[in-house]
Amino acid sequence: MRNRRLSWGVALCGAVGIALCAAYPLIGNAQEWSGKEGSTTSGPSLEDYLKQIGPDGTVIGHGQLKLDGKAVNCGKRPTVLNPNFDSWGGAFPGFLILNTKKISGLSTQVKLYIYSHECGHQFEGADEGKADLFAIRRGVKWGWLDAQGMEDICVFISQLKGDSVHPPGPQRCEAMRKYYRQLIEGAGQQARAPAFAPKPQTLAPAQ
Ligand SMILES: [Zn+2]
Repeated sequence: MRNRRLSWGVALCGAVGIALCAAYPLIGNAQEWSGKEGSTTSGPSLEDYLKQIGPDGTVIGHGQLKLDGKAVNCGKRPTVLNPNFDSWGGAFPGFLILNTKKISGLSTQVKLYIYSHECGHQFEGADEGKADLFAIRRGVKWGWLDAQGMEDICVFISQLKGDSVHPPGPQRCEAMRKYYRQLIEGAGQQARAPAFAPKPQTLAPAQ
């Protein structure tokens, strides 16, 4: 496994492979969901990025970001809300980018997936597949991802075409779905939550 930490480009765009994380024109190619992922070794500083995007950008500090009321974090990294970003989300080393306009119609779990995918780039580097699995792992571990959410993510990502770095959306869907199943099965029956409703804590698995 090579160390991709230094090689992820500029804004790693959302995982989703759509061309979500679209290229950021002033800076070079962002890592996109499906599009061109730049392979720059460094991105702009938060300050520089904010200067470049102008007054529409808003920084949300660590611990302050909520997606549909759910608090999220990526270590201590801030998130820049940029309604003009070409993709749903993106990431530069040290901070994340979300396009609030683009994600607004998506379901909560898809939003959390996008955010977590971008966060995954912070830890996993430019590899889209790894960022996807990071998001799924987080979703299961933190309890926000259920079978319905997994389907929503698949519907969302399956519209994305692939490119040299992003596998086609349907392939990403399959990889995530498979991983989701492994995680759920690995966690035992307890984790087998019904598709639509969160499962309450119980004394023992249902018979
Ligand atoms: Zn990505």
